[in-house]
Amino acid sequence: MKVLKFGGTSVANAQNILLVEDIIKKESLKNRIVVVVSALHGVTDQLIKAAESASQHDENYIQTIKNLEEKHLDLVKELIPILDQSSWLSFVKKRFNDLEDLCNGIFVLGEFTDRIKDKITSYGEFLSSNIIAARLQLKGLDVIWMNSAEQILTNSNYTNAKVNFEATENNLLKCLNENKNQIIIAPGFIARDEKNNSTTLGRGGSDYTASIIASAINADELQIWTDVSGMMTSDPRLVSNAKPIPEISYAEAMELSHFGAKVLYPPTIQPVMVKNIDLRIKNTFEPDAFGTLISHKLEKPNFENQQIAVGISNMSNIALLTLEGSGMIGIPGFSAKLFQCLSHEKVNVILITQSSSEHSITVAIHEKDVFNAKKAINSAFEDDLKLKRIEPVKIENHLSIIALVGENMKSRSGVSAKMFGCLGNNGINIRAIAQGSSEKNISIVISEKDIKKAVNVLHEEFFESEIKQVHLYICGTGNVGKKLIQQIYDQNEYLKQNLLINLRIAGLSNSRRMIFSDKGHSENEYKDFNQNGEDTSAEKFAQEIISRNLRNSVFVDVTASSEVPDIYEKLLKKSINIVACNKIAASSGFENYKNLKNIARNHSCKFFFETNVGAGLPIIGTINDMIRSGDKITSIQAVLSGTLNFVFNNYDGKKSFSEIVAQAQNEGYTEPDPRLDLAGTDVARKILILAREAGYPLEFNEIENESFLPQECMKGSVDDFYNSLSKHENHFKNLLEKAKNDGKILKYVAEFNNGKAKVGLQHIAPESDLFHLYGKDNIVIFKTLRYSEQPLVVKGAGAGAEVTASGVFADIVRSV
Ligand code: ADP
Ligand code: ASP
Ligand code: MG
Repeated sequence: MKVLKFGGTSVANAQNILLVEDIIKKESLKNRIVVVVSALHGVTDQLIKAAESASQHDENYIQTIKNLEEKHLDLVKELIPILDQSSWLSFVKKRFNDLEDLCNGIFVLGEFTDRIKDKITSYGEFLSSNIIAARLQLKGLDVIWMNSAEQILTNSNYTNAKVNFEATENNLLKCLNENKNQIIIAPGFIARDEKNNSTTLGRGGSDYTASIIASAINADELQIWTDVSGMMTSDPRLVSNAKPIPEISYAEAMELSHFGAKVLYPPTIQPVMVKNIDLRIKNTFEPDAFGTLISHKLEKPNFENQQIAVGISNMSNIALLTLEGSGMIGIPGFSAKLFQCLSHEKVNVILITQSSSEHSITVAIHEKDVFNAKKAINSAFEDDLKLKRIEPVKIENHLSIIALVGENMKSRSGVSAKMFGCLGNNGINIRAIAQGSSEKNISIVISEKDIKKAVNVLHEEFFESEIKQVHLYICGTGNVGKKLIQQIYDQNEYLKQNLLINLRIAGLSNSRRMIFSDKGHSENEYKDFNQNGEDTSAEKFAQEIISRNLRNSVFVDVTASSEVPDIYEKLLKKSINIVACNKIAASSGFENYKNLKNIARNHSCKFFFETNVGAGLPIIGTINDMIRSGDKITSIQAVLSGTLNFVFNNYDGKKSFSEIVAQAQNEGYTEPDPRLDLAGTDVARKILILAREAGYPLEFNEIENESFLPQECMKGSVDDFYNSLSKHENHFKNLLEKAKNDGKILKYVAEFNNGKAKVGLQHIAPESDLFHLYGKDNIVIFKTLRYSEQPLVVKGAGAGAEVTASGVFADIVRSV
């Protein structure tokens, strides 16, 4: 024999019940079967709601009952042939009259006890199972309805009654021996106590009914038919990449369901496990999908090739309750007393941690139990509290538990390191940890607001070694921003295949608009975001990024804005990586620069700004590598302004200086205000950043800067600037002539020597490394302890949107 259980969604309406009918027909051709059904989807909740309203003198209960009645009458009309309908319609009406009477009583008394609750909720399964049995009988199948409430005996712990297995087993065996029908249909969830009162087996308890029956009759298999294709690697409502687990052991399934995998009511496994009955989870809506087989898995022959974990489950609305005090140390029976008083108040303890000093003990419980738990502890430990042997009990709310489950975690080192590492990198703070000595399960308690992110991070780490989802928030859609976005779209397929990362542009902002999409924008969506986006500011953008709280997030600053860097600190503190081509932060006050780097380190995230100097050239990375490996930089000589190099390479007196500058701007080599380049400010910022990265705590105003621009050029708007450049053409001609007369050329050079930095125009002789530098190229010449004779030279294109974007891109990939 087999036992099949169909859940609330599977029997939600006539259409779904027809699918159930097909499955029953097919299975009953091969086996004699017991079919256990839940109430129609949502009915149990509505019954409770009606009774609760009545108990609060809220007359809406009448309408709630009416709606439920309609739902069941409609079902009868759709499933039962017209000639047989009237008796079934009166059957339903009679039950709803009874229900209304019960609720009227509650309304008058204002009292809603657990005993009445069980009486009321039992109508859900009673009705659904009767209607389905009638339908199948009338279709000519060999069906009988069996009242589980008469067969399953429990104690009187209403709403969560404990089963008397011996009596129940006897009843069921007798009933099934007496009735030889091929199909037995029974309601789930409901039972009775010795006084013949209705009891129920706990919410979700129809699974348990099926398991109790399967165990009693020693069934060949128990099948739980639901709305997903098996027990999945994570709650599919939180993790879109969750996959069904094909095979899992009883112990693993038990851990997953205990910690929140709703697909299986936790007590369900025990009765079938002791009889070694296979338990399958199947999808009513995809009956051909394999589903999950829960059984005594065979010993794993090839340990190394097995997946470490089988699944992750999560549970919300959790509170941590901590008891601490010197009076607890070394006193035997202290914990026993704590658990006894909690159990007495029916407080379910989900997780326990105790420090080895025995100074404190922490338990996780459901938030709804906090009041009772506190009351129980205060009364049980009254004397200890008075004598200050223990502190008043501490409660923290709004928490969630996540459990990583798998028998293969046993004796594998590094599993918790991996778990905590990836959570830490995403700024998720762990409030408590528990690992059973069987090592099947590592459970952690975290803030409720981090739950989705944490489960996804862990899922990716343990089950999606294929592809890591990275969420990018790009600020700036100018030249560099546009190129960057294009490069990301062009390169994404390669990154997925070769680096196993998927870059999602999850947010985009310029100075006016912002848009977000957790799954990433398509190429077209971002193109018209100026129309669709919301109003923005750096602050708003940051707030939204933080509230979305997505894993593996990177904020990318491709602006030259002085406001955007103000949000870095806030983002880094949430462990969001930052990649900036904006050099304002790294060249701001030394304290701020250092502070941002420290925050990034303390929050396990990255603050990268390789493109601050030399666009895509590997300059900062090279310094970092040298310093990390123990080298020391003694001097730097560099041409760092692509703009100035372009200008002085092209200025030969034929075209005016102002025309050359305009050309550089048109070709995208200058900052939006070219004076930042020409006055040497930009170069000074760059040498400052290099010196700092080399380990010298320099400030901007310590850099010597002899400007070659006449003072007047610095005033007014960018247009005024171009006018005054034209006016001073002779000044620039003179600079050029002087160098030419010496047989040299003009270069704007940055130098760092003996802890001091300076920038300025120099005459460069043909034998210098700086001489042969063309177009917009940059060069950096490092002398270090190791490169003392021949310097280390980095040279190449040091400006331009394309190479800058590629440098930003490289930083993004490095940061995750
Ligand atoms: P039924 O009404 O059939 O008893 P439930 O709603 O009780 O169904 O359980 C199925 C639901 O459990 C799924 O729709 C899914 O959203 C949820 N669920 C949570 N965690 C898991 C998991 N690890 N695997 C599968 N489903 C899960
Ligand atoms: N109908 C009950 C509930 O909603 C039992 C079940 O569906 O398993 O909790
Ligand atoms: Mg269920």
